[in-house]
Formats: sequence, C-alpha cells, structure tokens
Amino acid sequence: METEAGLELASVGRALRLFTRALRLHCPHCGRGPVLDHLITLRVKCGTCGLRLQRGEHDAFTGSMFVLFTLVGLVNYAFLAITLLVTDVVPWDLLEYGLPTLTLALVVVGFPFSKLLWLAFDLMLRPVTAAELTWHQAAEVEFEVDLLGSRRESIDRLAMPHVAGDARTETARKDTAR
Ligand SMILES: [Zn+2]
Repeated sequence: METEAGLELASVGRALRLFTRALRLHCPHCGRGPVLDHLITLRVKCGTCGLRLQRGEHDAFTGSMFVLFTLVGLVNYAFLAITLLVTDVVPWDLLEYGLPTLTLALVVVGFPFSKLLWLAFDLMLRPVTAAELTWHQAAEVEFEVDLLGSRRESIDRLAMPHVAGDARTETARKDTAR
C-alpha cells in the first residue's frame, strides 16, 4: 500500500514534536507506546495506535541504518576532537581501544533510536492517513508489501507453467500494480 498523502513539509513545531517523541523512545505518530519489545528491540507495532514501526516497508531498515551510522560517526568525531583539544600527546591507546568500544556500544544502544528517528523523518514528510493507519492495524506481518508480491508471483507460476520466467514476473508485477 502506498501512502495516499503526497510529500509535504512539516512545520518546525510538528517536526520537533516527532523527533522529540522518537528520542524519548515513544511512538513518533501518537507520542505513546510501548514501542520496545526488549531493551533494544522494537515491537512490530506501536502498542497504542497500531502503526507499524517500520511502516511495512523494507527500506525503512536502510534509512534507519543511515541515521544510526551518521550519528555514530558524528559522536566519534566529536569525541576525537575534544580529546585532541584537551591533550598535547596523542592518546593512541584511547584511539585504538576507546573509539572502537564506543562505536560498538553506540551501535547497540542507538539501534531503537535510529529506527524511531527514521520513522519520525518519514512521518514528517509523509503523514499517516486514516486509511493507512487502518491498514497497519489490520496487518499481521511486518512487511506486507513484498510478501503479497511474492505470493502473487508464486500463484501465477502455478497457474501458468508454460509461461517463461520473465513474462511471469512481469504479469505478477502488473497484477500487484492493479
Ligand atoms: Zn503510536
């Protein structure tokens, strides 16, 4: 399902509200939750509004990884800059062991934050419509779009065994687009 709403630029207040909710580990959409399954694992859906926290799309993971590694890189650079400013001797041990340890810790701890920050960014540009929220609430799987596509493709393959592979894929793509 595609979001019906087009891209829109959120107001500064709305953007701040979305990102603040994400940084507090709350659902960016409704501001509540719960959103955590375990300490660093997100639930599939928000416990209050039912919005899927990856919005049913695989590329949400790529986006959240971009956020995570950008944040980790910035923290590392800040740590390095401060260290070099306050000391005259290059702290090789700190750089050799401290930064990799810090990086690993940040990647683990920052994992849920990065996913919610990406969701906040996505919601800032593409607000959830009532129809999309209903779709999330009724969904039973985390990523429905691809699952539906692959199911239809396998049905087509069974129904048309004489059709060549490329043509079957094309037919499935057309059916999914209808
Ligand atoms: Zn919510």
